[in-house]
Amino acid sequence: MTRRPYIVGNWKMHGTRAMLSEARAIDRAAQRHMKVEVAIAPPYTLIHPIHREAEQIAVGAQDCHHEDSGAHTGDISAAMVADAGASFVILGHSERRTGHGESDALVRAKAGAAFAAGLKVILCCGENTATRESGKAVAFVRKQLKASLPPAEQLPAELAERLTVAYEPLWAIGTGTPATTDDIAEMHGQIRALLIDLLGAEQGADVRILYGGSVKPDNAAAIFAVPDVGGALVGGASLTADSFMGIALAASEPFEN
Ligand code: PEP
Repeated sequence: MTRRPYIVGNWKMHGTRAMLSEARAIDRAAQRHMKVEVAIAPPYTLIHPIHREAEQIAVGAQDCHHEDSGAHTGDISAAMVADAGASFVILGHSERRTGHGESDALVRAKAGAAFAAGLKVILCCGENTATRESGKAVAFVRKQLKASLPPAEQLPAELAERLTVAYEPLWAIGTGTPATTDDIAEMHGQIRALLIDLLGAEQGADVRILYGGSVKPDNAAAIFAVPDVGGALVGGASLTADSFMGIALAASEPFEN
């Protein structure tokens, strides 16, 4: 099945209510690009206000806790972000893995909790510079992804609708220089093969795999032309409607991934 390209903005720790106008502009532009699925993951504080106004875009969270509730000061559960209007959550982002010491096991537990709360999950994986330079990037990403996916009994039936994988090499995030299309093709092909192994031919072939790492309007079309790229997870360039929707426009040209 050919899925709509999926373009997701990760606003990270950027945005106060002053950014609501940008979210509105993204929503309005998304209504003119219906061939593309557009979503943003703002800080927790903006999930509800953006959800309340959005007509076209989906709103998501950048993380959630692995438990439903309890004595976890400062944390937010999957059910809470869903209640605020989030329909998806980004999990295992490298800034969570490195900045907060999140292990594969914790990411897996969070993904299980997110599915149980009815959320869609964007599961991130990616290697750092040292791993890339040692020639072990593919083995690392395969192992990381396998260990971060919940066990079969915690996966929802309509898995391809609910799970997206994002390949984000750490050395390309925020640097202005994305991975080469050859590197992206190799890794996305490996991730696709792993998903088919783990989830079966039908589901594994249908789960979208996003690329993330310095995607901009001027490099997006080349990245979207790579086999098995189903869209992009975008950081810096998602903060203005102009640049973010420039990427969505590049994705609205027909592509078969
Ligand atoms: C990210 O951190 O998810 C990301 C892709 O960032 P950027 O687009 O700024 O490289």
